[in-house]
Amino acid sequence: SDFESMLSTLIYPLRNAIRYQAALDLAMRDPLTGIANKMAMDGQLQREIALGFRHSEPMSVIMLDLDFFKMVNDTFGHPIGDRVLRSLSMFLKQRLRKTDHIGRYGGEEFAIILPATRESDARNVLNEIRERFSELLQPAGDREFNVTFSCGVAAWKGDTSQAICERADRALYRSKAQGRNCVTAAGD
Ligand code: GH3
Ligand code: MG
Ligand code: MG
Repeated sequence: SDFESMLSTLIYPLRNAIRYQAALDLAMRDPLTGIANKMAMDGQLQREIALGFRHSEPMSVIMLDLDFFKMVNDTFGHPIGDRVLRSLSMFLKQRLRKTDHIGRYGGEEFAIILPATRESDARNVLNEIRERFSELLQPAGDREFNVTFSCGVAAWKGDTSQAICERADRALYRSKAQGRNCVTAAGD
């Protein structure tokens, strides 16, 4: 009928748009934490670099990795480890600005983009978050435990997203080598 054909011309494109949006969401989000995955973060970094060139603003990238996380899983079990990952992503979302980007880069590794932020300011922000997070009591049945993380911070120097991520990674490695539970800036 006319009504049915009218309905299909209106509804089907709408339905397809919704399906497309849902597929995009699945492709760009980490299912465990609901935050951006590596692919989405890499896209955000490209966009922020383009904006950075246009507005000649600073920007910092942070690589963050939970300390001794294998031991958390081994001691308390994988589901408790999953809960720590969710608790960290919520904590970061609460503490950072709406314009900042947070993503899960790998297993227990997160990436953060702080637009309009210099390296030393980014280091101070992450140090504050690191201290507060380390004080959180993580529940595990009738037990409680603490988790820490280490960070590497790198400022954008007008170079590629790959180059800035490599600098942040090397700074993270130095944090781990220094004994963990600390933040290292690439320029320090
Ligand atoms: P380091 O301080 O040097 O980073 O030590 P680590 O134990 O955190 O690092 P390692 O790379 O040895 O182990 C990472 C652990 O993270 C091992 C893996 O089981 C755990 N992990 C990765 N992804 C997930 C996840 O989605 N859920 C849970 N529960 N654990 C995960
Ligand atoms: Mg780790
Ligand atoms: Mg790791």
